[in-house]
Amino acid sequence: MRKSAGIYRYGCSLYIAVFFILQAMNFNDDIIDVKRMEQLHDLRVSRIIRLSSPRALKERLPVDEKVAATVITGRREVENILTGKDSRMLVIVGPCSIHDTNSALEYAARLSALRTELQSDLCIVMRVYFEKPRTTIGWKGFINDPHLDDTYDIEHGLFYARKLLLEINQMGLPAATEFLDPISPQYVADVVSWAAIGARTIESQTHRQMASGLSMPVGFKNSTDGRINVAVDAIRSAMHPHSFLGIDPDGHSSVITTKGNPYGHLVLRGGDKPNFDAKSIAAAESWIAKAGLEQSLIVDCSHANSGKKHEQQLKVWEDILKQKTDGNKSIAGVMIESNICAGNQPFPEDPDKLRYGVSITDECISWEETERMLREGAGVMHNLAR
Ligand code: PEP
Ligand code: MN
Repeated sequence: MRKSAGIYRYGCSLYIAVFFILQAMNFNDDIIDVKRMEQLHDLRVSRIIRLSSPRALKERLPVDEKVAATVITGRREVENILTGKDSRMLVIVGPCSIHDTNSALEYAARLSALRTELQSDLCIVMRVYFEKPRTTIGWKGFINDPHLDDTYDIEHGLFYARKLLLEINQMGLPAATEFLDPISPQYVADVVSWAAIGARTIESQTHRQMASGLSMPVGFKNSTDGRINVAVDAIRSAMHPHSFLGIDPDGHSSVITTKGNPYGHLVLRGGDKPNFDAKSIAAAESWIAKAGLEQSLIVDCSHANSGKKHEQQLKVWEDILKQKTDGNKSIAGVMIESNICAGNQPFPEDPDKLRYGVSITDECISWEETERMLREGAGVMHNLAR
């Protein structure tokens, strides 16, 4: 009995001594944290909602023969323009962002007719942008917040984004988009004919890896400050195979191994200053030559090339047409931000107060102006082809 009381007293004094030594060394906080393991993760996550898998969404919204034919034709036409086998001009035109699928469908119906009318001189592809990179904060696009009310109903966003892409392809009009989130392509990329990696993500390894596995040609934008070398680096990186973390068609986290994308190309969108003029195009050509890539690029008439003023897109377009007339061979296409009505509108408190057919992100040119510009461009390309 006395022996065990001695051991007990000895144990207690040892514990007290260790406790005070650790406290003196300021280690006691660590001990407390280690004991409360549940506080080590998700400290700042308030909700996780599981989504349908890409396979499940594709089963609900399958590709039919007409859609498949539009996608295959669209991708092949873009590839042939980029490699010079097709001398028409690629025109990627449409709203800065989709926020209303009804007005997007009305726009698509008009554009589809124009695509058919001008098809011998222009290859028209519609901008169908569902993901918006923001400089700081703001609405992140239709997939992220389709109801425009901070409810972030991504399940609904993915469903209606895919549905709209199917309907647009159904008209025989190929679609172009920006891929921002590395998971969203699993849900919609099979019905996209051209994709962009945007100016804000051009240096991101995640996006370069993703582009290396995309099935369509990918345009890489110069950075927001105007650097072209980073876009050329991105093209070179995406040409190669990569292995990285992603999800499979059932949504399971997986190792994705890609083959590399041979159809990466530069998109000039302006930076600290515009970069569509002949001198800037020549500078871009020398970056492309240094990297040993195909001399083929796209000029974005909007963004920093227009100073975000929609009227300025016409000036850029006319300069490009003049450069083509003067013999330029590297400009394979243009991008134009266009909607049913001109300009943009502030993001409203109440989504019901939105004006129909008006952008809620960057300014767009009107439908009438779009028709005028594209008909003029088709005329110029027609004369050049003769
Ligand atoms: C856009 O295309 O609307 C866009 C955000 O482009 P950028 O990445 O050039 O800013
Ligand atoms: Mn835009």
